Amino acid sequence: MIQIDDKKCCGCSYCVLTCPKEAITSYYGAEVNEKCTSCGICVHNCPNYAIIIIQGEK
Ligand code: SF4
Ligand code: SF4
Repeated sequence: MIQIDDKKCCGCSYCVLTCPKEAITSYYGAEVNEKCTSCGICVHNCPNYAIIIIQGEK
C-alpha cells in the first residue's frame, strides 16, 4: 500500500495515470484501493516525492 503526503502533492495526477492497476482514485492525501500491489511505479513517477510505500501492508 502507498501513502501520499498531501502537503507535497500538487494534484498533477501522474500517479493516477501511471498506476497499472488503477489503484489510485484520488490524491491530495490519497485514496488507494485494494488493487495496489506496492509495485512502486507511482513512487518513481511523482515529481514531488509525495508518495511512499508503507512497508508491511498491502
Ligand atoms: S504524482 Fe505525486 S504530486 Fe502528482 S497527484 Fe500523484 S501524489 Fe500528487
Ligand atoms: S504502488 Fe503500484 S499498484 Fe500501488 S498505487 Fe502505486 S503504481 Fe499503483
